[in-house]
Amino acid sequence: MQARAYAATEAGARLAPTTIERREVGPRDVSIEIDACGVCHSDIHQAEADWGMDIFPMVPGHEIVGRITAVGSDVTKHRIGDRVGVGCYVASCQSCDACDAGDENYCPDWSTTYNGYERDGATPTYGGYSDHIVVDEHFVLRIPEGPDTQAVAPLLCAGITVYPPLKDYAGPGREIGVIGLGGLGHVAVRIAKAMGSRVTVFSHSPGKEADALRLGAHAFVSTHDRTALKPLRMSFDMILSTVSAPIDVNAYLGLLKTRGTLAIVGLPVEPLSFEAGNLVGEARTIVGAKLAGVDATQEMLDFCAEHGIVADVEVIDIADINEAWQRIKDSDVRYRFVIDIAGSLRD
Ligand code: NAP
Ligand code: ZN
Repeated sequence: MQARAYAATEAGARLAPTTIERREVGPRDVSIEIDACGVCHSDIHQAEADWGMDIFPMVPGHEIVGRITAVGSDVTKHRIGDRVGVGCYVASCQSCDACDAGDENYCPDWSTTYNGYERDGATPTYGGYSDHIVVDEHFVLRIPEGPDTQAVAPLLCAGITVYPPLKDYAGPGREIGVIGLGGLGHVAVRIAKAMGSRVTVFSHSPGKEADALRLGAHAFVSTHDRTALKPLRMSFDMILSTVSAPIDVNAYLGLLKTRGTLAIVGLPVEPLSFEAGNLVGEARTIVGAKLAGVDATQEMLDFCAEHGIVADVEVIDIADINEAWQRIKDSDVRYRFVIDIAGSLRD
């Protein structure tokens, strides 16, 4: 089946309309008519070949929400007409230790939603900047009743990237820092607050202070003002970095309490460095995290629905995607672009 899509033909190329081939619906597959797809900074990193793993032509997009239009003969989890989501991966081996533990996101043989390969190891996967997608039902999430389709879409990546570290470290009485108020960061503020934490936003964009407080932060720190960090030494239980560029790791380690944690989910191209003494002296920890398994992703969607958490979105026509990418690079999105696929790519 042919699908309409937008693709980059080579690293750094502007995205342009194209058609791609989607597989026939197999026994365990569902076909999804895509209504909305969020725009993640990872789409840009990958299309610009920042991480050195890139398959072109590339159709990005891993924050997909749509409706099921066809189901295979063995499908039991979903029905035609269901509103569903697809996140950052569409398959895993389902037989390794990670898959057995429900950590499909750490399966060494997973298939990312785009810039990866289907189970045959040869057919490229294509993401949600397209009008439909065919996915094994196991990897398809239920979207709870209630939230707007466009506003819920970013939870499929931004939400599930920040939820696991917050679940581990946030909670009543916990002091949580969030570095970077972008797509991931603004959802993190909402989730950390819903978990009962006090949240401080660290941002290099002073103009975002009012939004940070509106989203639920108790405090806002402009990182241009180095003196602002001094009184915050040894204050935080956990600081979550969502920044796509290098951060001053030593400065943030110093803000952690004894046994505090710096959790890194942002993926700058350049390496990060820190002084060992900053870690050792206070038994601090640096951790990383990449998404979550299918069940944990469903848990996050249900948690967000229960707490009324969605993303603040700027809805765009797919023809405006290249300008949107530039604004993301300029940290000028409030706070997630979502492509109106139904309105701009389908008939
Ligand atoms: P985004 O919307 O661009 O947000 C990143 C934020 O980082 C910006 O809004 C900005 O916030 C801050 N920032 C950007 N450049 C900066 C600079 N030069 N100095 C200081 N701060 C800067 O991006 P996103 O979609 O949230 O993604 C953030 C990062 O997470 C990306 O690297 C992405 O690839 C990665 N990611 C990781 C995972 C995972 O599984 N670990 C999943 C998804 C995305 P302020 O304006 O407030 O400073
Ligand atoms: Zn993403």
